Amino acid sequence: MTGPVLEHLGEMKMELGPAHETAHPWRRGEADGIVWLALDCEGTGTNTVSEAVIAALETELEALEQDTPRALVIRSAKENGFAAGADIDSFADLSDAGAAELLRRGHAVLDRLTALGCPTVAVVHGAALGAGFELALACDWRIAVDGASFGFPEVNLGLHPGLGGTFRLTGLIDPLEAMTLMLTGKTAHTGKAKSLGIADVVTEERHVRAAIDAIIDGKVDRDGPGLKARAFQVDQARRLAAQRMHRETEKKAPQEHYPAPHALIDIWEEHGDDPDKMQSAEIESFAHLLGTDTSRNLRRVFFLRQGLKENAKGKDGIHYVHVIGAGEMGAEIAAWAAIRGKRVTLGDVDLKPLGKAVKAASALCKDTHLSAVETRDVLDRLMPDPNGYGLKNADLVIEAAPEDPDLKEKIYADAGERMKKGAILASNTSSLRLADLAKGAPDPSCFAGLHFFNPVSKMQLVEVVRHDSTDPDVAERLSAFCGTLDRLPVPVSDYPGFLVNRALTPYLMEAMVLIDEGVSQEVIDTAAMRFGMPMGPVALADQVGLDICLHVAESLKGALDKPMPEISPRLRGKVEAGQTGKKAGQGFYDWSKGTPRPDSEDSGPGDLTDRLILPMLDACMECLRKNVARNADEVDGAMIFATGFAPFRGGPMHYAEARGHDDIRTALQALADRHGDRFAPDPGWTDD
Ligand code: NAD
Repeated sequence: MTGPVLEHLGEMKMELGPAHETAHPWRRGEADGIVWLALDCEGTGTNTVSEAVIAALETELEALEQDTPRALVIRSAKENGFAAGADIDSFADLSDAGAAELLRRGHAVLDRLTALGCPTVAVVHGAALGAGFELALACDWRIAVDGASFGFPEVNLGLHPGLGGTFRLTGLIDPLEAMTLMLTGKTAHTGKAKSLGIADVVTEERHVRAAIDAIIDGKVDRDGPGLKARAFQVDQARRLAAQRMHRETEKKAPQEHYPAPHALIDIWEEHGDDPDKMQSAEIESFAHLLGTDTSRNLRRVFFLRQGLKENAKGKDGIHYVHVIGAGEMGAEIAAWAAIRGKRVTLGDVDLKPLGKAVKAASALCKDTHLSAVETRDVLDRLMPDPNGYGLKNADLVIEAAPEDPDLKEKIYADAGERMKKGAILASNTSSLRLADLAKGAPDPSCFAGLHFFNPVSKMQLVEVVRHDSTDPDVAERLSAFCGTLDRLPVPVSDYPGFLVNRALTPYLMEAMVLIDEGVSQEVIDTAAMRFGMPMGPVALADQVGLDICLHVAESLKGALDKPMPEISPRLRGKVEAGQTGKKAGQGFYDWSKGTPRPDSEDSGPGDLTDRLILPMLDACMECLRKNVARNADEVDGAMIFATGFAPFRGGPMHYAEARGHDDIRTALQALADRHGDRFAPDPGWTDD
């Protein structure tokens, strides 16, 4: 065990014992009558709260109950944080009954921790998530070391807190705030955690010991959950609040597809005045949710993410990045790379976007909760560079200039004369063929696509596109670079639209054809959202930019074996009129009053949903058959992390698997018979 956290424990003359046996994850230390238990899960940099962690805690508690210290401090021996949550792997094969039994055992141990006859203090640095947060909540007090964060991400896995979080958090702070945290899966960072009452003390690492002494000496006050909490002891008050929560939650996570948040609201509404009953209900509900398709598929999404992260595990060897073009994409790519520790120069032919880019970078630092010092460091690392001086030092040059092949060719010719030997040149192009662009690249083997999605800071996927002459080592370094940027790389080959735009474009264009046929955009978008898309295709097209959609659709048209939907005259008209969508305030929707939320009673033509969704699935199958993507899991991950494809369905190929390839093929053929060859099923739907 090394690093500041444990050095600090050493400074306090604590003798941390060695890990007992390989499996015992708690390290015990004692000083001045205070017992310290430091969680140190073996063979991993991040603690998770497994059955073994709880069982070993029980052993420690048995001893502490016999010989009670002045105080018990629980913290993590890992540099990177307190604990990331439960061990999701262990959920896989549990039956309802098996899960409930396991949970009851875990609850009993945390109840013993809460009941221990001395002050118990959790010292949290980094993240305390899920079961890690629940462990901290079972202590009497919580000290947050600067930068700590607390959260319950379980809803993202189709679950709610299961180790006491539901009743402990609603009992500790304003129940509405507690429910919001659990329902949204959002994280409360240090300041927020203090103001909510989750953390009793916020301090720097070096003052932790003094804070513990202050707690033991009764010198730390706290306000308690207050008046609001008392008001919600009344059934009627909870009922009204719960109705509102259901309504709000339904908009983002319809109960039909996402039962967990609604189950959580029900538990609180029913038992919010009785922690014991809430505890039993939590256990039962969690065990049931584990077995739902939604939770299985959302846990699958978690593993898809892990799989994509694996693609990024090499070394990028990239310290210095030069970005060409400080527009919509380049500015944010540059800012994000600087935030993630790279030295970045950002060039543009125009000074105005450079000034805007620096301002936007500063705002992004704020959004990502960076401190003033960290923000200053980021801005030091990000240099506006109108003359392109950075080109000669860059290990990686990212071109994010307008989508014009002649312009890109000129840019490559200039860059080629100034770039150092062996440096990588990557284009952010979304629709041009790399093989064509590579002809103008200084060294085609060091040229590839690095296709970020908009906005870069939010969209997790990046397509790493190789053409025939891309050196495999270059592609791997680019994937590793995505990893250092905390993005998820998916390797794809040079194909019209690569993977994501190839699959998404027919979906967007079919929606336009439907509008031309007289189906209202609200009906179309509602159908897609009922299927589980976060946003319908018409609103999505507006959000992406109708000009960009038109450009991508035009570039795909004729480049594929299969016909694409005809480009809608209405789409062209909107672009010509400057009504390019969200960025213009007007596209198919009026965005001046915020994001449109279509909700239509009319379900439209009977084949509406299939007309929208199946072409996307078919394109995914085509990409698999043509080895554009390597496997179905990567296709699923890419479509979920780049387009938000209904996560509770586990991805397009997983949905196709569940529905049956035969059924998909038959449905596509029926659509082809009715509406034309663009629906003809791909030959890949033959394997069952
Ligand atoms: P943009 O028009 O917003 O920005 C392009 C910038 O490049 C402008 O600031 C312009 O002044 C600058 N520029 C023009 N000529 C230049 C030159 N010779 N040298 C340096 N800078 C020059 O474009 P964008 O939307 O950021 O798109 C950039 C690239 O990213 C395109 O290839 C596009 O296909 C791709 N892309 C865009 C999106 C999107 O949603 N906008 C998404 C993914 C990929």
